[in-house]
Amino acid sequence: MTLVTETMLRAMLAKGIPNPYSIMRNDKLTPAAKDFLNSRGIRLSVQQQGDSAEDRNGDSGSPRIPRIPVGVSNRHVHLSPEDVERLFGKGYALSPWRELSQKGQYAAEEKVSLFGPKGALHGVRVLGPARGQTQVEISRTDGFLLGIHAPVRLSGDLSGTPGMILEGPEGRIALTEGVIVAKNHVHLSPEEARTFGVGGGDRMMLRTLGDRPVMYCDVIVRIHPSFSLDFHVDTDEANAGHLKTGDAVELAGVNGVLLAGGLRGG
Ligand SMILES: [Zn+2]
Repeated sequence: MTLVTETMLRAMLAKGIPNPYSIMRNDKLTPAAKDFLNSRGIRLSVQQQGDSAEDRNGDSGSPRIPRIPVGVSNRHVHLSPEDVERLFGKGYALSPWRELSQKGQYAAEEKVSLFGPKGALHGVRVLGPARGQTQVEISRTDGFLLGIHAPVRLSGDLSGTPGMILEGPEGRIALTEGVIVAKNHVHLSPEEARTFGVGGGDRMMLRTLGDRPVMYCDVIVRIHPSFSLDFHVDTDEANAGHLKTGDAVELAGVNGVLLAGGLRGG
């Protein structure tokens, strides 16, 4: 009899957990292990005694987990429709300049200036489309230059964050909140999430493959049918790991548990 635990299943994520997952008739699963399989849509297949050991450990012929492309986000601003008009003029609409990796998102032609108590940054790109609340995403290094010490937050989680002055060609706004250092995250479609064996809100551990190995230990999993696979970091994080847009990282663990071989070189 084997007791299958959640930790054992997580350790198998590197090679991919087969679906259905085979156990022997006498094997037992912990409740957490059952939840783990259920939440990932993996069914159980109970083998009769005497089937091969290969079926039981389940890793024969399972596909290798793909690498995850990196997208580096420079400082940028998301604007509410009202703030677009305040900065660029009445009735103004943003003009898409370049598509971003996530469907429907674009870098706009428009740029603004950011002002903090210690300094200013000019030519900061606006991302579209306009959204509910204005949000400024800067790196920690930008924060030192501006004199604004913003917390690490996921997009949209703005309560209690600092404000700043924004300036466009037609006006200025004094934001009272909305400045963050973006928390790194991975975008995945539901299908891609199944490939990696993760659910929404899980934390991936991702390692770089270049000359300066770095592990990002707490990367939030974000899943949506419109998402495509991309690991989003800011410029400070990218520079620390010698990463640039288009590089790739590898899954080294999930929710604080390293996969077997997670620290081995590429
Ligand atoms: Zn993102």
